[in-house]
Amino acid sequence: MGRQKGYSKLSCDRCQSSTFVSDGSTDSQSWHDISHLNSMAAAGGHAPSTLTLCDDCYKSFQRYATNGDALFDKWLRSGKGQES
Ligand SMILES: [Zn+2]
Repeated sequence: MGRQKGYSKLSCDRCQSSTFVSDGSTDSQSWHDISHLNSMAAAGGHAPSTLTLCDDCYKSFQRYATNGDALFDKWLRSGKGQES
């Protein structure tokens, strides 16, 4: 078969699973690149880090991020003089 091009190796930064997929295939579309900014980076004005996640970990991340956003919003609204 010789050398074949147009493939990428994808590795999940959370669960460490990995696979080879042909570029542009439906398999490659079930992997996701996300940006994450932790509090230290945000305070220092640094760029967010980029992570690659498999589809299962991406769905888990979406739930986690939604909960984190809700906690942050609750914290922001709990300041002095704010309605709770
Ligand atoms: Zn994963």
